Amino acid sequence: MLTLNDIYHSFRLPLTPRRKDLIAKAYSFAENAHRGQKRRSGEDYFQHSIATAKILAEIGMGSKTVAAGLLHDVPEDTSVTLIELEENFGKEIAQIVEGITKLGKIKLRGNKEEYFLENLRKMFLAMAADIRVVIIKLADRLHNMRTLQYNPPEKQQRIAKETMEIYVPLANRLGIGEIKGELADLSFQYLDPQNYQKTENLRNQYYKQAETYLKKGIKELKKELKKHGINTIEIYGRTKRTYSLFLKLQRHDMNINRIFDLVAIRIIVPEVVDCYETLGIVHEKYRPMIGRIKDYISLPKPNGYQSIHTTIFGPEGKILEVQIRTPKMHQEAEFGIAAHWIYSEKEQSLWKNVFNRKHKGKVPEKEIQWVKQLRDWQKEIGRDDKEFIEGLKIDFFKNRIFALTPLGDIIDLPEDATPIDFAYAIHTEIGHRTTGAKVNGKMVPLDYKIKNGEIVEILTTKKKKLPNRNWLYFIKTSAARSHIRRALRESQENI
Ligand code: MN
Repeated sequence: MLTLNDIYHSFRLPLTPRRKDLIAKAYSFAENAHRGQKRRSGEDYFQHSIATAKILAEIGMGSKTVAAGLLHDVPEDTSVTLIELEENFGKEIAQIVEGITKLGKIKLRGNKEEYFLENLRKMFLAMAADIRVVIIKLADRLHNMRTLQYNPPEKQQRIAKETMEIYVPLANRLGIGEIKGELADLSFQYLDPQNYQKTENLRNQYYKQAETYLKKGIKELKKELKKHGINTIEIYGRTKRTYSLFLKLQRHDMNINRIFDLVAIRIIVPEVVDCYETLGIVHEKYRPMIGRIKDYISLPKPNGYQSIHTTIFGPEGKILEVQIRTPKMHQEAEFGIAAHWIYSEKEQSLWKNVFNRKHKGKVPEKEIQWVKQLRDWQKEIGRDDKEFIEGLKIDFFKNRIFALTPLGDIIDLPEDATPIDFAYAIHTEIGHRTTGAKVNGKMVPLDYKIKNGEIVEILTTKKKKLPNRNWLYFIKTSAARSHIRRALRESQENI
């Protein structure tokens, strides 16, 4: 049975009296509200609220988010209203809880495609308002998945499928690797029990063999790094998760011997320069495998992931992957966007971390979209860090809208963007050939102002055509503007 202390112990930010009080207040409020309610497991309903809040604390969220996590099912499942919540906890927390309640109201209807799109759309709308709503939703879902065995089989299938299709990609997009990994494994277990078991068996067999040389490698590398004066913060063995192993096995004819990153040694060192030095030391000790050195520090993955990976012939000539990163990269890899709550507290300045990265002010090319948006937001508003962090107002999507293609791809546009901007955001040639547009299935004029969450369909002609000069009067994006100008100019020159 979980209690208030479990939340306190998991809380990663400094537990100030103010934060402690807020969490305690939300705890007893939610406990009273849910009194007498039971889960299918037979447990008190309130245990689910505590478990959700605990997950939020574990990934480093602040006290308001943890409090909202405790309260997240209160308006939905009890007689307490949102107004009462606001009276007790203020507008901000009440709004977060309202966001979660709204998201929870989505009902399965229509065909599956439609259901999927609708869910995705609502998620992104919620995200546009306050990303904490989505993070709480992820924690809520994680606990529901952990206790899915108590549900009837059809419900298990439906929830597992929804988790795999919507929550796993969302956690991935937000870079919360910890939650993404566990959600994927839990869903996999229900959706494909046979392959789950098969992968688990392969995995266990392999790890038994790997254990000795993994330990040996860690010991030897530790010694080597120390000799070279590298201050190793942590060095440990990490194993690949079941679902991600399964995906890789599928690409390699289920042959486990063709997978090189099954076991890895993870080395955490203080600074970026230490990472490169460590790489040199590792290669000096163990021969690297050709073509397997990946520098995700200079070239981060699209979701922002940073580390150096290399595959080596380790002790006994066994193949091992080595991953090298700084503590900050580690936090971001595990907790994604949530890591910034931790950093903003510890180092006083979120911006210092996000923008003055250690690589001499150079911002990595493929930095994650939301970081870009944070930066734009900061430029526009010019507010100082403290105020921003204090309010924890992650409304950096405020002046952006998310529109969807009929296939469900999300196009990110500035406010008041038109179908022409949308078309050019997809492809220049689609922009040029636009003849009309539909929004949520209805024809609209080309200077229509797209709203958040709308599904935009661009009608085009098959023939090559020049853009219309009049579009320049109403479009909003500079990308569209420059494409239109260039096309018109080039056509002039050709006459
Ligand atoms: Mn819940």
